[in-house]
Amino acid sequence: MTNRLNDPTYLWHDPFNYPWGDGETDIRLRKVRIVKTRKPATCVPPPILNGHPHEIPAGTEARYESALVEGIWSKCYTCLDCMDIWFSPPYEGKGA
Ligand SMILES: [Zn+2]
Repeated sequence: MTNRLNDPTYLWHDPFNYPWGDGETDIRLRKVRIVKTRKPATCVPPPILNGHPHEIPAGTEARYESALVEGIWSKCYTCLDCMDIWFSPPYEGKGA
C-alpha cells in the first residue's frame, strides 16, 4: 500500500481547474496540499463525478485546496477516495 499522504499524484491533478480555467477568474495565493483532517470536513467531489458533498470524518486523508478567488478566500477538501474514483476509468482524471 502506498503512502497516500506523500503521493504527489493527488497534487498534480486539479479537479477544479476546468470550471475555473477560463482565464478570467482572478485566483491568487493558491495552495494545494494533502492533509489529515483534524475535525470532520465536507468533501467536494470533482465536478465531473456529479457526486454530492459528503462528510469526511476526522483523521482522514484529504486533498485541501485554498485560494483567494476574486478577492474571497475559498477552501475546499476532496477526500482521496473521490480522487481515486476520478483517476480511474472512465474519468481518468479528465475534466468536465
Ligand atoms: Zn469524497
